[in-house]
Amino acid sequence: MFPAFQVHIPTLVLVVALVMATAWGILIFVGLTQRTYRGFWWWILAQGLATLSSLLLPLRESQPELTPLTTALMLQWPVLLLIGLRRFYVRSNLPLSASADGLLFGLGFLAWVGVWQADMGLAPRVAVFSVVYAGLHLYAAWVTFHVREWRHSSSLKALLVLMLLGAVVQMPRLGSALAHWGDASVTDAQLNYVMIALGLLCTQLFALYLCLLLTYERTEAGLRESQRQLRVLADIDMLTQIPNRRHFNDLAAEALQLSPPGASSVMLFDIDHFKAVNDSFGHAAGDEALRLVARSARLILRSRDVVGRIGGDEFVALLPETSVSDALHVADRIVRHVDAERQSQQLAAISLSFGVVQMQRGESLAQAMHRADLALYEAKRQGRSRAVAAEGGHHEGAQPVFTQSRPLGLTAS
Ligand code: GH3
Ligand code: MG
Repeated sequence: MFPAFQVHIPTLVLVVALVMATAWGILIFVGLTQRTYRGFWWWILAQGLATLSSLLLPLRESQPELTPLTTALMLQWPVLLLIGLRRFYVRSNLPLSASADGLLFGLGFLAWVGVWQADMGLAPRVAVFSVVYAGLHLYAAWVTFHVREWRHSSSLKALLVLMLLGAVVQMPRLGSALAHWGDASVTDAQLNYVMIALGLLCTQLFALYLCLLLTYERTEAGLRESQRQLRVLADIDMLTQIPNRRHFNDLAAEALQLSPPGASSVMLFDIDHFKAVNDSFGHAAGDEALRLVARSARLILRSRDVVGRIGGDEFVALLPETSVSDALHVADRIVRHVDAERQSQQLAAISLSFGVVQMQRGESLAQAMHRADLALYEAKRQGRSRAVAAEGGHHEGAQPVFTQSRPLGLTAS
């Protein structure tokens, strides 16, 4: 039914060797030109030796003394791949060590040499090769299974499957070798080698591709982390670890979109006579005071509230769906918290002044902050350590009216 299919073995061998060498060349090129990680050159070595085995394979028929060398070059693959993975995932604390991997390879190879030297025929040799080859793959898979990241990396999962597959594909050969044990008529057919080489080629190329993917996954994760750090640096005030003015504006704009218009309060607050804190206790004590205020505000405010440091010793908070009188309570609680904390840390007494306004319909955040600033100024004018609420002043030319003024805290200075 089908036309006879003739494999031209020398061509096939040449193609296999060329593909292996090309893959090796690509790996070396990537290793030289791209960012790679520890272990990559072990993979290059594994592929280089595997390429050498594919080049030597056709010579085995005429020079049987090459057989141990080609066998060793084939058996090294899962072991060097694993040693590369050990270095790549050096933080994973994988079981055993690279020396144990080498020892296992040496023992497996010696077992094969024993059978080869005993000249027991092809079947026992194939059987031992299959067992050692499959065993080394299972061992490599077992060690790789201990990489912490394997659940999160689809490339690593695929590599694990491939290692198991490397063991499974040996089973038919093992079965056939066992079935023909002692059958001297089974010959060392060249096609057999070519089939081995093709099988190796497929699994090894795919495994190398996955190693490249692991490398790129790591580079990408590194980039994502740098981006995250850059965002934090650009958004968060390093001293107090709260949003800076620009980021506060963004967060506040988002929060305002989720609240009904005119239902939020804006609160501006500032440390009283902060210059004196710096002058009397030093800049480090001043920094600690700033951190304490930021920490207290974050702790007292609700998760929906937004707080930021808008420069120097001045802070701002947006309290969505909060009335001015509730905001004044919040100011009081912040001050009490600051005071309790500074006493337990034996820091100098500090007081805060607040300006509070209710955002009006159609009013921008910047306009509300301006009115809150006027209220804060009024709090300073009235003697500090107090919260002043302002109403009105959001229309063109109108001045706000300061409706409430509440002294704050226990240690007003
Ligand atoms: P007032 O009660 O009117 O607010 O008085 P003040 O001394 O707090 O007023 P002013 O705003 O003039 O002083 C702010 C001081 O904050 C001046 C500046 O040296 C200091 N400062 C600004 N940024 C930092 C900082 O990051 N760390 C420290 N330690 N001090 C800072
Ligand atoms: Mg101040």
